[in-house]
Amino acid sequence: MTAQPHSADPRVDPGIEQPHTWRPDRLMVIVAHPDDADFGPAGTVATWVAAGSVAWLVCCTSGDQGGEDHALDPLALAVIRESEQRAAADVIGYAGVSFLHQPDGALANDLSLRELLVREIRGFRPDAVISTDPETIFRKGGRGINHTDHRAAGSAAADAIFPAARNPMSFPGLIREGLLPHRVRRLYLAGTNQPTVRVDTTAQLDRKLEALGCHVSQRAGSAESLRHVRERAANEGEPIGVVAAEAFRLVVIDPD
Ligand SMILES: [Zn+2]
Repeated sequence: MTAQPHSADPRVDPGIEQPHTWRPDRLMVIVAHPDDADFGPAGTVATWVAAGSVAWLVCCTSGDQGGEDHALDPLALAVIRESEQRAAADVIGYAGVSFLHQPDGALANDLSLRELLVREIRGFRPDAVISTDPETIFRKGGRGINHTDHRAAGSAAADAIFPAARNPMSFPGLIREGLLPHRVRRLYLAGTNQPTVRVDTTAQLDRKLEALGCHVSQRAGSAESLRHVRERAANEGEPIGVVAAEAFRLVVIDPD
């Protein structure tokens, strides 16, 4: 008896050993900090935008604790980091960026953040959302602890997508503003220990590295940082036979 191909189940993609080919028309990225999207799924976003997708970036915080100097003014740092993220978003090709101005280091998946995210989702109406895997507490291979804000952003994105954004009875105040229920069909989780799909990002790797270079305050464009990003891209690309890839855990909410 031959094994059933994964694609026999429409809720499951062809698998992680093949390049992932599904592409959303509209895509929203929801992350905790400026630079998370550029270290994370920027290659995929640039790849999809180059193929015709429209993308929007939502940063829950403005990264006001992302410095080494305790004397630094957090609000001044937030202004710098927002402008760095806007420049990087232009490089990747996002249609725009929203900053939700939640506190860095204290991001909470609470009802107020959910309402802010539902507002973004109902306004932009994405087919797919990319966020960070809320189940990653410790990074694969014992490589460190995942920032609490990354986990909170992922949980909040998931809870905003389902059921809140699609439920006609949730957040009636938003509905009165004309922000009608919206069904996000897929959630892609970056920074995951349980990848299920890999997107070929070879053609956009240089663009991702250029975007990282915009995050000057974080030294994201340093030679060591870019070497690390290149290595990770190559490691993810190798199983699907390409130079660079990004891996995600895919959650299909509404099958095609
Ligand atoms: Zn971060």
